[in-house]
Amino acid sequence: MIKDLISLFYPEVCAACGNSLFKHEEVICTQCYVHLPKSNYHKDPNNPLHKVLVGRFPFQGATSFYLFNKKSRVQKLLHELKYKNNPEVGVLTGKWFGEELKDTAFSKADVLLPVPLHPSKQQQRGYNQSGKIAEGMSSSLGIQLEENLLYRRTATKTQTKKDKGDRWQNVEDIFDIHDQKKYEGKRVILIDDVITTGATIEACANALLKINNVELYIASLAFADQ
Ligand SMILES: [Zn+2]
Repeated sequence: MIKDLISLFYPEVCAACGNSLFKHEEVICTQCYVHLPKSNYHKDPNNPLHKVLVGRFPFQGATSFYLFNKKSRVQKLLHELKYKNNPEVGVLTGKWFGEELKDTAFSKADVLLPVPLHPSKQQQRGYNQSGKIAEGMSSSLGIQLEENLLYRRTATKTQTKKDKGDRWQNVEDIFDIHDQKKYEGKRVILIDDVITTGATIEACANALLKINNVELYIASLAFADQ
């Protein structure tokens, strides 16, 4: 009853479209659930994300749940997740993403590894958005989540105004791993919120590929095809 009273004055709204949620809905409305643009990249080994990454480092598969467009519902979701203290967006969409990946090579992975934030940024935000996505995927796929293997060495400077070349140099070797033995010969999935140039993923992959015989898969919540 208290929840009903609160929602009377502060109606809960959908994180993707901003419309009021019905009682049975949480975080994202049914309309958005149905209409958010899925990439279906897991059905196409040579998908556009694969094409962006191939040749830069060895990996076994790459997929993204949604397609990112500016001023779209996916952009609003990512904004909620990163800047509006709405970690539930990551957990819920991660859960759906995991359900989508059942019966694929991704579902046979041994561990989920989210791209880490710099500790000071994580403290400021209160959570790592990629970790929240991985948390949701972990619950629907039944694969363990490991947040303490990959780490970020230094804070990166603001990258948005730099060109691709500078950006790549800036993040090139800012990631490392705490343990090279733990996942030897294992299948790991590296998880990010959104991939654009792939520079961050490439930098993480360079660290993870220090592990002998590791099978590397890439999964992002959204992909911005440029
Ligand atoms: Zn909605």
